Amino acid sequence: MKCPYCRNELSGDSDHCPNCGRSIVVKIKKEEDYIGPLGTSRPILTWGILAIGLGCIPITCVLGVVFGLIGLHKANNYAKFTGTLLGPARAGKILSILGISMGVIVTVLTVIALSQHFSMRDIMAFILPQMRSSL
Ligand SMILES: [Zn+2]
Repeated sequence: MKCPYCRNELSGDSDHCPNCGRSIVVKIKKEEDYIGPLGTSRPILTWGILAIGLGCIPITCVLGVVFGLIGLHKANNYAKFTGTLLGPARAGKILSILGISMGVIVTVLTVIALSQHFSMRDIMAFILPQMRSSL
C-alpha cells in the first residue's frame, strides 16, 4: 500500500502517512470504492482482449495497437494506485502488450502485401504525372 498523496510506502494500518503526515483513511476508502478488489481491473482485461482480437485482423490491426495502448495506460494507472498488478489487471496488461505487438506486425505485413500488389512501377506511374503537373 502506498500513500495516495506522496506515494510513500505505508506499513501497518496507521491513519496518517509518516512521510507527509496527511490522513489517508478517507482517501483510501474512496480509492477502494473506485478500484475495488477486482472491480476496475476488469476494463483493463477488456481492452487487452479487444487489442489482441483486433490486432490479429489486417483491417483492424491499427485499432488493436490503439486499444492495446489504452489497456497499457490503464494498467499502469492501476499499478500506480495499488502498488501491485495482479489478477485481471495483470492479464489485461500482458494481452495489451501482445495486442500492440500483434497489431504492429500485422500492419507491417499488410503494408508489405499491399506494396507487392501495387508494384513500384504502378506507384511511380501514379506519382510522376502529378509531379510533372505541379512543376
Ligand atoms: Zn504521504
